[in-house]
Amino acid sequence: MIVLGVESSCDETGLALYDTERGLLSHALHSQVAMHEEYGGVVPELASRDHIRRALPLLEQALTTAGVTKESIDAIAYTQGPGLAGALLVGSSVACSLGLALDKPVLGVHHLEGHLLSPLLASERPEFPFIALLVSGGHTQLMRVDGVGRYTLLGETLDDAAGEAFDKSAKLLGLGYPGGPAISRLAEFGDPAAYTLPRPMLHSKDFNFSFSGLKTAVLTVVKKHETDIANICEQDKANIARGFVDAIVDVLVAKCVSALKHTGLTRLVIAGGVGANRQLRAALDAAAVRKRFKVYYPELEFCTDNGAMIAFAGALRLERNPQAAQRDYAFNVRPRWPLDELEAA
Ligand code: ATP
Ligand code: MG
Ligand code: FE
Repeated sequence: MIVLGVESSCDETGLALYDTERGLLSHALHSQVAMHEEYGGVVPELASRDHIRRALPLLEQALTTAGVTKESIDAIAYTQGPGLAGALLVGSSVACSLGLALDKPVLGVHHLEGHLLSPLLASERPEFPFIALLVSGGHTQLMRVDGVGRYTLLGETLDDAAGEAFDKSAKLLGLGYPGGPAISRLAEFGDPAAYTLPRPMLHSKDFNFSFSGLKTAVLTVVKKHETDIANICEQDKANIARGFVDAIVDVLVAKCVSALKHTGLTRLVIAGGVGANRQLRAALDAAAVRKRFKVYYPELEFCTDNGAMIAFAGALRLERNPQAAQRDYAFNVRPRWPLDELEAA
């Protein structure tokens, strides 16, 4: 069975083809990062318009790379939510129109389920059950995963998401948007002893997070210099970046370790854009050796938004229930959609 995946929830347009026998056939992606950069964040209307421009050429690209025709697609999975309403509508209308034209069933996929299952696309696949840390631009959640659609929320951020904290702190340091990768690169050159920033909720005895105070701590350090960030020397910027990264990584790792301990599980899965962070990966790998658990990551290119994870999540659901896709072509996006409202597959 060949499943087409369509992702358009935010600022990436992704189209991909996944074959339940042969695996991922192709994936085509366009990131709008350069377009939104001058505004310092995603401009929803611009995002929607760009998805419209990109979707069909990316579909052609995905089909050509895979060497298959439109007609050989068996079902179409698209991101139904959560995300920007206008952006989601583009993906759903592309998926539903294609479904109608080709007489193929369509299936709305939860974007976070896509992220959550993306590590299963890697060559080393974790078995269920596992603990998942979802660290993306909009979410920070710890979950127990017992199967496809069987998610129990253990804890989540009370304010900013981890990716958001990376981006906002990077902005305070005068780095571009999105600043996550940039602040991570800069931190490599920083002195870990220069700034010790707070580790919010490290000892809170639950699985919740809070990162807005950490961002404020970065702001306070920057302000102490009583000068424009542009005038802070590069080494000092790197030191602040290092202080920030060390603090956020410490909290993320500690909460993962306590969730594993609490549930008795021994497999940890990392998903979402911040899962690409090298300091986080290094710290988790070290903790895994110390505490005897195994940690699984998505391929780097599938940490941030992409169509492959949507095609894959759709395929997993269809394998378990062929009725999951329907010839129902009414656009029905869900910009807000809690993950625990999903039904088990
Ligand atoms: P959501 O999935 O919650 O709707 P999103 O789709 O915008 O949010 P992702 O695409 O999963 O989020 O991830 C984007 C985030 O990941 C951004 O905040 C970005 O800064 C961050 N990010 C990407 N690479 C890195 C990195 N190497 N280090 C730190 N953060 C990173
Ligand atoms: Mg994005
Ligand atoms: Fe995402």
